[in-house]
Amino acid sequence: MNTLITNGKIYVEKGLFHEAMLIQDGIIVQTGSNSDFESASYENHIDLGGKTVIPGLNDSHLHLSYVGTTMRSCKLNQARSIEEIIEIGKNHLEANPGTAALYGRGWNQDYFVTGEKRMINRHDLDQISTDIPIVFVRVCGHMATGNSKAIEMLGVDETTTVEGGVIQLGEDGQPDGIFCESATALLDTVIPEKTDLDIEKDFLTAADYAISMGLTSVQSCDIQNVDAQRIFKVIRNIYADNKTRLRFSHQFNFQDISGLEDYINTELNSDGYDEKFLSRGALKLFIDGSLGARTAFMLSDYHDEPGTRGVSVLSQEQLDDILSLASQHNIRVVTHAIGDGAVEMLINAYEQQMNGGENTLRHGIVHCQITSTQQLERIAALKIPVLYQPIFLDYDIQIVEDRVGEHLASTSYAFNTLYQLGTPVSFGTDSPVEDLNPWENLYCAVTRQRLDGTPEGGFCPDEKMDISDAIDCYTTGSAYNEFREDFKGRLMPGYAADLAVLDRDIFEIDPAQIKDVRVDMTMINGEVVYTRQ
Ligand SMILES: [Zn+2]
Repeated sequence: MNTLITNGKIYVEKGLFHEAMLIQDGIIVQTGSNSDFESASYENHIDLGGKTVIPGLNDSHLHLSYVGTTMRSCKLNQARSIEEIIEIGKNHLEANPGTAALYGRGWNQDYFVTGEKRMINRHDLDQISTDIPIVFVRVCGHMATGNSKAIEMLGVDETTTVEGGVIQLGEDGQPDGIFCESATALLDTVIPEKTDLDIEKDFLTAADYAISMGLTSVQSCDIQNVDAQRIFKVIRNIYADNKTRLRFSHQFNFQDISGLEDYINTELNSDGYDEKFLSRGALKLFIDGSLGARTAFMLSDYHDEPGTRGVSVLSQEQLDDILSLASQHNIRVVTHAIGDGAVEMLINAYEQQMNGGENTLRHGIVHCQITSTQQLERIAALKIPVLYQPIFLDYDIQIVEDRVGEHLASTSYAFNTLYQLGTPVSFGTDSPVEDLNPWENLYCAVTRQRLDGTPEGGFCPDEKMDISDAIDCYTTGSAYNEFREDFKGRLMPGYAADLAVLDRDIFEIDPAQIKDVRVDMTMINGEVVYTRQ
């Protein structure tokens, strides 16, 4: 089937736009001006009325089915009082009759403005329901509250102890529902395990949301050690039944040799991957934690907590072993490294793997937040792809100088420096850690500001990216990670017809407006898969 698109401002490459393009069986066959197509034959015609079109965006690291899980759970981030939390819970149950267990996330007593400003406890949650278990996790993830039903199901009482955690007691000497640190994992067990159907529903809900935001591809880590075979199969079935058109490349997390060996012996040779809509992607590893919690692994002490350098969860030797097994099987690896200590370990490990040669498997660094100039130069010289999340700046701008000092902060989150050095840079959101909204993400890359517009002039303004460069990172840059930069991420002949039509000209608007861009239409493989109502 042929589709002709005319009257657009179609982004081809930096500084170059075309008006029209012809698509045949999902592939762009010709681009040019309207008049070039006067004698073209086609079945469909889309007149864009002057609108701006960019290649479909490709999130280089997120967790798609968990985005869906988060979407169906109770969102508590906006709650400004205990009463409001109770209200949100009640409304959620009313809107979803038959809910067997209620899970919510994001409350923060520091944000309460009316009523009592304290942690929520079992008695608060009992006002929502005493018939089903309820677990509401605090925004930090290190504390959660259960209702009386949850506590009854767990069978814990004032004598229960958990190593590395606390089950808090109330004034009556009984558990008050507040669980801290490792004890929070106990509370998770009262939430029924997801069925295959739950996983599928979550996946498809999130896929629809992604498409409505102009994403046409995602590189997603839905496999996290446990239950790998089952989740692989659910996702294969979704694509076998053509239930979504969102292009999906797996990232799969196994932290040890045996998990990876299982994968090599099973999924690596399984059918069901057409490499067009569904493909096997990278092994995902993680080395350290987060900057917020001071668990990112640093080369020197935290500026705001001397004596602490964070943690590395893999030793250099473990990292080398798993990398070499992956490389032997031509499996690409992407590794979570946030502190400069973790980044250093990773550069060393990748360099050793390359053995004086090139990074042919395109092993990459996810996050890569805290970096020195010398590390940036090594990353560029070794051509190590970097998978950045510009939206992390929205929170991290407030803490980075406290955590690592002004000097190291000034060479961190160095999107533009690495891009200008020729490093393959791609963008993602790590959703559900952040929303998968790509427009807020692009806004942060271009303005280096928080969503509220601070700080004026932007954080380390030399790192502000040009909007065309930022879009390239999100499209062809992400495709590079999948070895698909010749097929996806450009609107040129021979490329997939994956695109987003925008409600405004993102190349001309005030950068402050980039976060407000809306998608009018999304196309994948030449098919319109979303139209804004
Ligand atoms: Zn992640």
